[in-house]
Formats: sequence, structure tokens, C-alpha cells
Amino acid sequence: DLVYSDHYTTDTRDQLLAKIEAHLRPERFAHVQRVEQTAIALAKQYGADVEKTSIAGLVHDYAKQRPDSDFLQAISDYRLDPDLANWNNAIWHGVVGPEFIKRELGIYDEEILNAVRYHTTGNPYMTTLEKIVYMADYIEPARDFDGVAEAREMTARDLDLGVAFQTWHTLTYLIAENKAIYPKTIETYNAWVPTSG
Ligand code: GDP
Ligand code: FE
Ligand code: FE
Ligand code: FE
Repeated sequence: DLVYSDHYTTDTRDQLLAKIEAHLRPERFAHVQRVEQTAIALAKQYGADVEKTSIAGLVHDYAKQRPDSDFLQAISDYRLDPDLANWNNAIWHGVVGPEFIKRELGIYDEEILNAVRYHTTGNPYMTTLEKIVYMADYIEPARDFDGVAEAREMTARDLDLGVAFQTWHTLTYLIAENKAIYPKTIETYNAWVPTSG
């Protein structure tokens, strides 16, 4: 079983789990544990820190079930980019989530926080750990969408191939659904997908 050092959280894994469970509905709590396990397997394959991967996987959706008012208050209180106020939970739980993770869970490791910040939109530059959380969220065992088998195969073959695959599919899906594209999503697309010009 995974025993945490004191480097990233003073909680044990069980204590961290209990704090996360208190903020999430059962289905979402089960999802973050599947993401953790999927991410740990990728960390072993691709050489990322297993403890940091576990923590990042568990906390990635920590803020997912907060009311919009909490996010708007945080954007104002912590002087985040004011444009964030024009978005919604899909973007906030990743980008603003770390504000709650820092203050409520006492986790300050910037790579763990960036893995949360980038887990929905990706980022032009991601560390191996950040790529792993982005991919684990997409391919955890309960995910079921057209292309998920291919996403799993590509991620097992080459992590960067998986990142490009998800980035293309997500942008294509958002456009097909007439959804607003967060600028970071476009930046990620431009960094990962075009093969020329
Ligand atoms: P989850 O939290 O585990 O459900 O997964 P994610 O955090 O990866 O995604 C949350 C939602 O954000 C999904 O419905 C995505 O399709 C959506 N999403 C991702 N990028 C964007 C974007 O640029 N704009 C909008 N409007 N939604 C996005
Ligand atoms: Fe999420
Ligand atoms: Fe995701
Ligand atoms: Fe998730």
C-alpha cells in the first residue's frame, strides 16, 4: 500500500481520501480513485513520482462540486485573471481548484497544482506527471466514448501520442457541440496537434 512521505501533504493517504470524500458525491469520489490508479500505472511506465501522481490523481476534481459563487468569490479574493469570471465549472474546477486545494488541503507542490490546473484543457508545456493526470482522467476504466479504446492504446504506446489524441478529440467535440473554447484549449491544440504550418 502507498505510504506518503511528509513532502507534499502531512496527511496519510486515508486522511486525504476522507477530506476529498467529504466534498464529492460517491460517483465522483469513485472517479478520482480510478484516475489515481490509472495515473499510478502510467507513472510506473513513464517514470513519474508515484506519490505525487497519487496525490494529483486524487485531488484533480476536488473542487468539481462547489457552487459557482465559491469560484467567483475566489477569482475576486485571490486576484485571478478577471476573464475567468466569464467561464463555468468545467474550466473553474481545474484552473481555480488549486486555490481550494492549497488553503483547505495544505498541498502546495506546484507540479501537483499544475497537474490540476491543466487536467481539463492541457497546456502547451506539460511535465510527465501533468501529462499523466491529463490522460488518466480521459482513459480511466469507467470512461466510455467513441475512441476511448484507441486513446488507451495510444497512451500505452507513447504518452505524447495520447496527449495529442485527446487534445484533437476534445476540441473537435467542443466545436461539434457549439461550446465556447477556453483560450488555453486552443493553445494546447496548437502546441500538440498541427503537423505543419
Ligand atoms: P471531469 O472533470 O473528470 O468530468 O473531466 P474534465 O475536467 O477533463 O472535463 C470537464 C468538462 O470540461 C468536459 O465536459 C469537457 O468537455 C469540458 N471542456 C474541456 N475543455 C473545454 C473548453 O475549452 N471549453 C469548454 N466550454 N469546456 C471544456
Ligand atoms: Fe475534471
Ligand atoms: Fe480530462
Ligand atoms: Fe476527472
